[in-house]
Amino acid sequence: MERLEGHKARKRFGQNFLHDEHWIRRIAAAVDARPGQSIIEIGPGQAALTRELIAAAGAIRAVEIDRDLAAWLRAQFPNGELTLVEADALTLNWRELASDGPIRVVGNLPYNISSPLLFHLMEAADAVLDQHFMLQREVVDRMVAAPGSKTYGRLSVMLQWRYRMVKLFDVPPGAFTPAPKVVSSVVRMIPKKPEEVPSVDFALFSSVVANAFGQRRKTLRNALSQLLSQQDIESAGVNPAARAETLRLDEFVALAEKAATLGVKPVTAGAAPE
Ligand code: SAM
Repeated sequence: MERLEGHKARKRFGQNFLHDEHWIRRIAAAVDARPGQSIIEIGPGQAALTRELIAAAGAIRAVEIDRDLAAWLRAQFPNGELTLVEADALTLNWRELASDGPIRVVGNLPYNISSPLLFHLMEAADAVLDQHFMLQREVVDRMVAAPGSKTYGRLSVMLQWRYRMVKLFDVPPGAFTPAPKVVSSVVRMIPKKPEEVPSVDFALFSSVVANAFGQRRKTLRNALSQLLSQQDIESAGVNPAARAETLRLDEFVALAEKAATLGVKPVTAGAAPE
């Protein structure tokens, strides 16, 4: 496998490069890229997955922030198999990348920016067919968690509002250079059809979810006191004595709807979900 000789993995860009052919093929098989599909890889790095994706699809696009890797990648694929976008995936206009039709997004993501990146991509979800990402296992477990489980939280509710998600498999630290400290997992995210996405005032929904989980141990009655009264929560069909970690998505939606009908304004509750 060709690599960029002498490239020192950059921590600030979350660089952990896949080197194990078994796992590289397994991830590519899960993506199952086909010719004619519009595939965009985030962070191609030293092209471990990129080569497999190109072999399957013929040509792909990729977004890489590291200037040295971008130059090397251009030289590796001089025949139009790879269209490289040298940019920050966090600020990129993803909708624009899908202007010719829906895209499939793939990436062994830089773990240091995975949450903000997932939320940034959510803004373009209606232009996306699916996303296959490798992330820290702990994050994937939170993404797919069901109500009542220990890992169910803000990330679960916000992403499950927009996507169907399946955890596919774990990947051990030894598959990467340098090896990360934690186990990774591959997740498949399929945006729900617009008619399946519960309609909400997004800012208010985010605020309800953030406040509810911001004070995990508190009952909803207390955690949401700045947004909804006990009676409001009850009339939304939700038990005010319940805790956020037991609430289903449709219950969070009902609370956001209630707040919207009452003209409540969103209240911030801490940082973006992790
Ligand atoms: N895909 C390669 C692999 O599997 O070996 C590299 C994965 S490495 C975990 C993450 C990659 O994302 C690196 O190539 C890094 O330079 C790139 N990257 C980091 N932050 C980025 C950003 N904000 N936008 C685009 N690429 C980024």
